[in-house]
Order: sequence, then C-alpha cells, then structure tokens
Amino acid sequence: MHKDLLRLARAERSVRLHLACCLAAAVAAGLLVLVQAELLAGVLSGRFTVAALFPLALVVASRGLLGSAQGVLAGRAATALKSALRRRLLGRVEALGPAYRSGELVTLTGRGLDALDPYLTGYLPAVAVAGVVPIAVVVRLFVADLATAVIVVLTLPLIPIFGALVGWTTRAVTERQWRALSRLGGHFLDVVRGLPTLRAFGRARHQASVIREVAEAHRAATMRTLRVAFLSSLVLELVASLSLALVAVPVGLRLLSGSLDLGTALLVLLLAPEAYLPLRAMGTRFHAAMEGVAAADEAFAVIDSPERPRESRSPAPTAPAAASGPPRIRLEEVTVRYPGREEAALDRVSLVIEPGERVAIVGPSGAGKSTLLHLLLGFVAPTEGRVLVDGTDLAGLDLDEWRRRLAFVPQRPHLFATSVADNIALGSAATPEEIRAAAEAARVAEFAGALPRGYDTPLGERGANLSAGQRQRVALARAFCRPGAQALLLDEPTARLDGRSEAAIVAATRRLAEGRTAIIVAHRPAMIDLADRIVRLDGGALVPVGPAPASPVATRGGEAR
Ligand code: ADP
Ligand code: MG
Repeated sequence: MHKDLLRLARAERSVRLHLACCLAAAVAAGLLVLVQAELLAGVLSGRFTVAALFPLALVVASRGLLGSAQGVLAGRAATALKSALRRRLLGRVEALGPAYRSGELVTLTGRGLDALDPYLTGYLPAVAVAGVVPIAVVVRLFVADLATAVIVVLTLPLIPIFGALVGWTTRAVTERQWRALSRLGGHFLDVVRGLPTLRAFGRARHQASVIREVAEAHRAATMRTLRVAFLSSLVLELVASLSLALVAVPVGLRLLSGSLDLGTALLVLLLAPEAYLPLRAMGTRFHAAMEGVAAADEAFAVIDSPERPRESRSPAPTAPAAASGPPRIRLEEVTVRYPGREEAALDRVSLVIEPGERVAIVGPSGAGKSTLLHLLLGFVAPTEGRVLVDGTDLAGLDLDEWRRRLAFVPQRPHLFATSVADNIALGSAATPEEIRAAAEAARVAEFAGALPRGYDTPLGERGANLSAGQRQRVALARAFCRPGAQALLLDEPTARLDGRSEAAIVAATRRLAEGRTAIIVAHRPAMIDLADRIVRLDGGALVPVGPAPASPVATRGGEAR
C-alpha cells in the first residue's frame, strides 16, 4: 500500500476500522472458494450425497453477503480517508499562504482525490485477496495432486511478471494523464476569473481554443491510459488461459488413462483457475487505481511541503516575548529571493522600526515594497538575514500569535461572498457597534447606506458588486475593526480613492496609528505626510532619504492599480 496513505489510514480510527473489516471480508470470501470447490467436486464425483448441496448453497450465499459487506465497508473507508486527506490538505493550504497554485489545488481536492475510490474499493481488496488465496489454493493442490501443483507454482509468477512489465509503462502514462487534468483545472479557473479582461481584449475566443487544446491533451492521455489498461488485461488473460491449459490437458489425459480419480480431477480443475483469478483481478484494477495514487502523491507533496525554508534550523515556535504594546521591528541584512527569480526582491535590507513609529515606504513599482510587508507577515521567509520582532527571530515565533497583533490591508484586498458586515469583521468577535465604527472611519458608511440591505447586503464573489474604491474601503474597515492590533501594515491604502475619501482615510489612519507601529506603503503626499519617517526602496535596496516629510521625492512612479 502507498506508504503515506497507510500512515494516514493508521492515524484515522474510522478508516483503520473500516479498511481492516473490508480486507478481512474480501479475504474470507476468497477463502470460501476453496470450500465451495471441495463441496462441488465431491457432489459431482458422487463422493458426497446430494445433501451436500445444502452447505454448498450456504457457502455461495455467504460469499455473496461477504462481497456486499466488503463493498459497503470499502466505500466507508474511502470516504473517511478522502475526507481526512481533504481536511489536512485544506489546513495545509491555509498555512502555506497566498502564493500557492490555487487552480491545481481545486482540481486536487475535488476531482483529484475522488480518483482514490478505485484504489481503495477495488485495488486494495484485490491485493489482500491476491496475497492469501493463491497460497491457500496451491497448498490444497499440493495435497490433492502434486503434478498440477507444480505446474501452477511454475506458471503463477508469470502473471505478476507480465503485469509489472506492462505497469512499468503505465505509471508514466497515468502520471501524464493526471498532470493534464490538473493543468486543465488550473487553466480553467484562471480563465474564468479573468473572463471580463479576456472579453475586453477580445481574447475570450482564443482562450476557448486553449482550453480545447488542454482538454484534448487530457483526452489523449486518458485514451493512452485506457489502451495500456486494455492491452495489459489482454496479456494477463492470455497468460492465465495458457497456464490453465497446461493444467487441464494433463489432468484430462491422466483421467482417461485412469491414473487419476474423478473427484481429484474435478477438484483440481475447479481450484486451479482460482489461483490465477486474484492476481488477474489485481492486475486489471491496478490501472484504475494508479490515477488515485498519482493524486495522493500530489496531495502528500502539498501536505508535507516545507512551509518556510528556514523552519528546519529555527527553534520550536515560542510565544512572542512581549505580546503587549506596539512591537519593535528590526530587519538585519534581509535578502528575499523568489523561487525562479535571479534578481533579489529585497537586497540586504537593514532597518529598525521603533515601537509606535509611523514609517512610509515609498519607491517605484517592483521595488519590493509589498514583499517587505509580506516578510513581516511571515508570508515569505528571508533567503538570508533575519527579521526580529522585539528581539525575537520571526522564524521562531508562533505566526498565528504574531499575526493576531497585526492589522493588514493588502494591495489587492480580497472580499468574500458574504455580507458587508461579515467582510469587515472577518471572523473577529467584533460587536455590531464596533463594525459600524470601523465602517465610519473607513468611509464605508458613506455607500453602505445606499446598498439594498445596508450592511447585510451580500457581496458577490470577490466583492463583485462594489467599485474598486469601495472594495478598498471595506478592506480598510477590516483593519479599523481590529482595535487590539499593535501594528498596522497598509499596502497603498488610498491607491484607488478620490481626493475627498483619501483625506478622510488619511485622518482615520492617523487616529488608528496612534500608539501603534505603522508601516504604510504609500505614493500620495497626504499619506506620506502622516509618517514620522520615509523609507525609500529601489530595486529591492534601501535608498537613503532625508527625514520626513519629503513628499515630492516620493510621488514619482506610483502604481495605479
Ligand atoms: P512593489 O510592491 O514595490 O511593487 P513587490 O514587492 O510586489 O514590489 O515585488 C518586488 C519584486 O519581486 C518584483 O520584481 C516582482 O516581480 C517580484 N515578485 C513579487 N511577488 C513575486 C512572486 N510571488 N513570485 C516571484 N516574483 C515575485
Ligand atoms: Mg506592491
């Protein structure tokens, strides 16, 4: 069994239980075949009386019952295992942060893990049966007729050998199929999200053809898998049939010559196919199961992926040294390099931000301003150097604890498809009054009154029924709704606002920054004026500037997003 899946199955009680019972039922049903053959051969050869038909019927009925019980148990085990896997996967996605490939993850957690069904309900029971039944059959054959047993023992390994030979190519083929499927999912999600843009630029049709191509690649990969699967069952079928002929012909001849009695001959002929059958069943189910294995591999790659590269050499997370009061933040020669990028997004940046200080970060697009905020949030880890919070390395801090002390407004805030009020509270236990106050401060109140159901108006997906400026203000209200936060991290909070709203937001931010450490990425003079100090970034490096306020320096190269 897949070793990571086994680990998971062991850890989950209901999976363990159902899986064990399912495999036991499968093996028991397989072993009953021996009893069935024994009784049948006995009745046919006249060794047993006709009364033996009654236990025979009983055996057949029990096999049926065990078979259906096995199906139900396998289904339960599969459901439990998949939901455990999904739970871990989603928990992991949360910890991995925002930059993960979301489309592929959607495919993986949804359709992808469903591919585990054939693995758990078909392949695993087949493996269990194949591990027990052929051995039992061979032992019985040795007792009944040595010559036949020797033929079976010699030909039996041919099935796994041929199966492995075919399986060799299958693995690559199913992996390609899986990759095509996840690419399809990722691409599709991306296109659906960008549909308005694509339409405006007349590229929607082109994307349709791209999706068609990706879907075509998936279809071709699926057909290839099916071809291999059919081919391999044909091969296994052929090997099993030839082996059976090798058993049957001598038995027939010996029966004619009288050197073998009818009862034994019948038993041998009834039992021999049962030695090959489990191995053949395992072979045919193998291919259907492989897609699930590929999906499981992918899922475990996400679950076991290192969250932050430095975690291995950092000590176990500790509680922040001084969990109260605005933090003192210190960057020591921090370099951040994104994977696959030559240029460092931040290049040996050293910076101290005193408790309660308000710092404006300015600089052209791509200078590394957002990266600096993401660094403080723990979304990205320094490639070199370290970030200290009140003297403690951020890598050693409990990130959830630390983030509770922060209020963050990202450059492109994400609104969820719930009410305005829920979007502002965002899971915090804020009272309706606190939400109102935050909405006032962030100038949400201005337009919330005009919405059909006020603060209870549900927003569309990603806040679709608000303008960019309104969305920005809802995101700001979120920060204002965290009175407990000791540090503000604002990424261009007024970028999409008109002059009048901007002035109000600046005033509210000034109030909010009172007694807190504030780091504000800003372009507009009004916002920059609010800072005690200006830090200028260019190409990832700090550029010295005079003490605040030096607004004209900073107004160049604004990002208008
Ligand atoms: P700013 O906010 O100042 O405009 P950013 O911090 O967003 O700049 O980006 C700094 C540099 O890092 C840019 O060159 C950008 O292309 C790159 N970058 C930002 N995010 C990523 C990412 N997730 N993966 C790779 N490169 C990135
Ligand atoms: Mg930015």
